Amino acid sequence: MAAQNTDKHRIVVIGGGPGGYEAALAGAQLGADVTLIERTGLGGSAVLTDVVPSKALIASAEAAVAIQEADELGLQFFVRDDHEHPRGPEVAVNLGKLNQRLLRLAQNQSDDLRRNLKDNGVRIIEGNGRIDADGEVSITAGAGGQEFDRVEYDSLVLAVGASPRELESAKPDGERILTWKQLYNLETLPEHLVVVGSGVTGAEFASAYNALGVEVTLISSRDRVLPGEDADAADVIEEVFTRNGMNVLSKRRAESAVREGDEVVVTLSDGTEVRGSHCLMAVGSIPNTADLGLEEIGVKTTGSGHIVVNRVARTSLPNVYAAGDCSDFLPLASVASTQGRTAVFHALGDEVRPIIRRNVASNVFTYPEIATVGWQEVEVREGLRSGRVYKLDLAQNPRAKMQGFRDGFVKLMIGNNLGTIIGGVIVAPRASELVLALSIAIEQRLTVDEFASSWAAYPSLSTSVVDAARAMHRPVG
Ligand SMILES: Cc1cc2nc3c(=O)[nH]c(=O)nc-3n(C[C@H](O)[C@H](O)[C@H](O)COP(=O)(O)OP(=O)(O)OC[C@H]3O[C@@H](n4cnc5c(N)ncnc54)[C@H](O)[C@@H]3O)c2cc1C
Repeated sequence: MAAQNTDKHRIVVIGGGPGGYEAALAGAQLGADVTLIERTGLGGSAVLTDVVPSKALIASAEAAVAIQEADELGLQFFVRDDHEHPRGPEVAVNLGKLNQRLLRLAQNQSDDLRRNLKDNGVRIIEGNGRIDADGEVSITAGAGGQEFDRVEYDSLVLAVGASPRELESAKPDGERILTWKQLYNLETLPEHLVVVGSGVTGAEFASAYNALGVEVTLISSRDRVLPGEDADAADVIEEVFTRNGMNVLSKRRAESAVREGDEVVVTLSDGTEVRGSHCLMAVGSIPNTADLGLEEIGVKTTGSGHIVVNRVARTSLPNVYAAGDCSDFLPLASVASTQGRTAVFHALGDEVRPIIRRNVASNVFTYPEIATVGWQEVEVREGLRSGRVYKLDLAQNPRAKMQGFRDGFVKLMIGNNLGTIIGGVIVAPRASELVLALSIAIEQRLTVDEFASSWAAYPSLSTSVVDAARAMHRPVG
């Protein structure tokens, strides 16, 4: 049995992704005895395979776009041939080097997190945690392996994350049929990448690989890409995708993906076959809760295996919390870490602000990006919330013109009565940086006039956010 300090409140955290990391850190900060059990690596999928490497890949893709579009800004790149004649060079992508950089970044981040936890006195146990009926967690070398340690808890935080969903008819082989976790093993660019699934993950990878010069076919089972996003925003992205040569196949479900020599054949619901050199399966995630022992203590789950939690991340049991992708809240790293922190504050009786799901800002890291927060237009149109909607295209923004882009907009949703800002969508490069102003406005219940009286630097993309608010002013009376 691990040597725990029974004079203190004992917190055990299973999983060291953003949910578990923040929970452990908060516990240490509040003076608890904290044990964190992690079976793969600190930082979890977020750091090692999902957020960090994918956004680092996207940074490289953005650099490639900047080079490709430099001509429009009056910059041309030339190399000289043997006769000193200028020739336009091609952007050559060294995918092996690029991927090594992503994985190095991820490992560095993981090492930093480990160091920080240790410095704060968190006990880290490398192994697989499983709850058992008598209020303890057993730790084995791997799932189903030999038990080598046990810990007791006063409060337990489950932060075990999720894994890519796999289809029997399209089993990833790690070589040509890939999950997003396996993409980083590629040494050379795929000749033709077929992306199955046009949700956030599929769209982000399709966008990045397309920008790196890969032929991409994106298969969407719905009538448009990014079906969960604002319809106008998804239209912009689909238009940019097709303009950049991506082949977008809508309203077609991929039934299977199989290897045929150096090709992957993806068969669609209408019988069409799409042949590519590689296939990325981005068809969602399943929570890592199947063999956690939840049933032993009676923690309630949904039909999909997600742990049911309330706004302070508490499960159906008073001393058990769940944070992140294994919970039935929102699958975002930012949410996972806030849930982890909130859970521990609640467990230790500190002041807690229950999480307001609707106020969570999210971002799709395509080019351009889509940032979203609060109520959405479709909800206002369907009468779920009374309000007004206004959309301002970025094409008129002077900074956008200077920087040479035209795709994007700012959309605001405001309440009918007081004109309180209730939601927003920003489609722009770096929309993820612009959305904070709207998040604050929503959190602080600012009216559109209060927001419009704030200053944006000129020229900037932010002026469009203020201009949209100004356009929504209604005269008094
Ligand atoms: C490609 C991709 C890109 C993404 N980009 C973004 C983004 O830009 N922004 C954003 O906010 N979100 C993003 N997400 C979502 C984000 O990755 C998740 O929301 C986040 O990882 C959830 O954190 P977590 O702590 O719940 O789980 P994870 O990060 O998955 O960590 C869970 C950890 O638990 C460990 N574990 C599981 N079971 C056990 C066990 N029994 N015992 C011990 N350890 C265990 C695992 O090894 C893992 O390390 C992205 C997701 C994907 C797939």
